Amino acid sequence: MNLSELTEKQRHDLLIEAALDYMEHQDWYCSEYDPDPEVIEQLEQLYRDTPSLQPTPCSGSPIFDTGVTLALLWERDRRIEYEEAIPLWRCDCGTEYKREHWGHGNETFYTVTPDGLFDELVGSLKGKRGIGTSPRDLKWPVNNGSCPNCGRSFRSTLERQADPQTSLLFQFA
Ligand SMILES: [Zn+2]
Repeated sequence: MNLSELTEKQRHDLLIEAALDYMEHQDWYCSEYDPDPEVIEQLEQLYRDTPSLQPTPCSGSPIFDTGVTLALLWERDRRIEYEEAIPLWRCDCGTEYKREHWGHGNETFYTVTPDGLFDELVGSLKGKRGIGTSPRDLKWPVNNGSCPNCGRSFRSTLERQADPQTSLLFQFA
């Protein structure tokens, strides 16, 4: 089947379906147990906003692979929303970071782009027991838990900030 032989309606339906298939395969979405009209609407909107969708090489089927492109655009938007929603955190030296939590006290620290998104991964903290999940895109072990700007340990800065009394002392120091 060739994309150019389809009617607009057929093309639309097949691409949305392929996008949802791919998203289920990636565990981004579960239509069987939790169909979400908002997700469908987001895909419809992306479909309307992106008239020249190109296939992302994946299965070899031009229709499925174009649906993959739609799914990847959807995932990118969700990632942007997620990163934007994370509040800025300030080291004592004033450098701003975003902290991503991975459970068990594991977190990673990113510098921030002007748009409020993650920029560079600069450090991580491991949980108290040293067990925890790691970000999937973490390709090397980052155990350097200190601010690249001032060298203060992220953990001790966080602990001090969490203690109202020492925070107060710090403020008037
Ligand atoms: Zn610092």
